[in-house]
Amino acid sequence: MVAKTTNPPFSKILIAGAGPSGLLLALLLAQHDIPSLVLESWPGLDTRLRATQYGVPATRIFRRAGLLADIRKASIPKFPTICWRRVADGEKLVEIDMSLVEEEEDRMTVLQLGEIIQIMYKHCMDPEKGRGLIDVRFNHRVTGTGQDEDKAWVEVEVGKEGEEKRHERLEADYVVGCDGAASAVRRSLYGRKWPGQTFDCRFMVQNVFYDGFADHGWEGGNYMIDPDHWGLIARRGHGGLWRVTYGDPVPGLTDEEYLARRPWHFKAMLPGHPDPDQYRIEHTNIYNIHNRCVDSFKVGRILLAADAAHACNPMGGYGCMTACLDVGGLADCFIGYHQNRAGPEILETYAKVRRDIFLKYVDARSIKNLNRVSKADPWTVAETDPFFKIVKELNKDQEEMKKFLMKVSSIEYDFTQHYDQRPAATHATSNAVNGTSNGISNGVEEHSENEGAKAEVALHMEAV
Ligand SMILES: Cc1cc2nc3c(=O)[nH]c(=O)nc-3n(C[C@H](O)[C@H](O)[C@H](O)COP(=O)(O)OP(=O)(O)OC[C@H]3O[C@@H](n4cnc5c(N)ncnc54)[C@H](O)[C@@H]3O)c2cc1C
Repeated sequence: MVAKTTNPPFSKILIAGAGPSGLLLALLLAQHDIPSLVLESWPGLDTRLRATQYGVPATRIFRRAGLLADIRKASIPKFPTICWRRVADGEKLVEIDMSLVEEEEDRMTVLQLGEIIQIMYKHCMDPEKGRGLIDVRFNHRVTGTGQDEDKAWVEVEVGKEGEEKRHERLEADYVVGCDGAASAVRRSLYGRKWPGQTFDCRFMVQNVFYDGFADHGWEGGNYMIDPDHWGLIARRGHGGLWRVTYGDPVPGLTDEEYLARRPWHFKAMLPGHPDPDQYRIEHTNIYNIHNRCVDSFKVGRILLAADAAHACNPMGGYGCMTACLDVGGLADCFIGYHQNRAGPEILETYAKVRRDIFLKYVDARSIKNLNRVSKADPWTVAETDPFFKIVKELNKDQEEMKKFLMKVSSIEYDFTQHYDQRPAATHATSNAVNGTSNGISNGVEEHSENEGAKAEVALHMEAV
């Protein structure tokens, strides 16, 4: 039993990385009077093209952090449909009517990650929302970590590009690595070891303006099924902004060679089979894609969260959604410990539960999502894929589909159930998630086969 005292057992958290997970964690901690220092290596916030859609579980965390109203204001008002198309003839194979949940506050969120991070940063700096408890420092690159019984620290290289750098050691009670897939915090603990796989392709991501989408009646999200031209084409912003992503299955080319192949992919994938003078590309990023996970999310006083701990391929939008759930859970663990409602062992529970959930659900399902668009036979997949069969079944009953779209997912987990004395209601998702807490063992929900299939459907709906 943890002694109830008025003295908090720790006073400050150091967070490496001002990406979505780092800023969100800082905000959630500040809501409960826990100060944090956030160190970001770059001179500003990340503007690369990455996440654009976040399933219902992530939306619930955005709402809890007080971000949702601003995010909705910035995003497109409607995202009416998600479908899977065969590239060869553009045929729509399966479709989900997202307008069924357009009035639901916690429906899927659609907004470019760069804009979400800006909103998060604004909230962190707002005297009311960040409560003066969040110190974000740019041009602070973490290069190493250390710890003893009482504290943890990071070694930091400080200074702008081109300037002479100074070196500092910054301390806190705990260090959290939210520094993304190339995490220096993870490397300080595990070196290059990061079990998993890197896929044999390059992932091309671009913002595109093309009248042909509207002319051919395209809307929402369109998963494209084809071994040579798989990907996702989706409306993402105001003023006709679309995001076109595809995997180029030929490995080992230079960026210039991949860009030279782009017109061929666009001609095959976009409606109307346009030539380059018919569309405008505004911004491009090229990635390797991976599914990987560390051996442990916690080593002493140093913790890992989100992409620093695990990565998954982008088909299905699990990366940032899982990042939000990691830091939502970790915030609850720190809050419970800070308020003497839980002991430090709750941080071990975080590390075990979130890793188990990643391996059991996120890793497995994101690979299935990737295989569905890149490896399945486009001419038979509509009949053979178990997920498509379930979607078609659900499409027969709008109420059932609506329930599944908004359902609590098996990747959500309420850590406040480990508090010795539960607070009345610490956050908006508590009650919903508590409803599924029965039967959780070793941190991961156990399902019978049938229940497991249903949970998976829910997850796909939330994350498609
Ligand atoms: C093409 C693409 C599309 C995607 N689409 C989706 C999607 O639709 N939905 C979804 O949920 N997910 C998606 N993802 C995944 C999502 O973008 C990531 O999971 C998410 O950005 C992870 O957030 P993070 O805060 O953990 O890491 P990051 O976003 O990588 O942020 C890490 C931060 O740490 C900083 N940093 C790095 N090293 C250091 C250091 N040494 N010291 C200090 N700071 C450091 C970085 O500069 C950065 O600001 C996509 C990813 C890609 C590549």
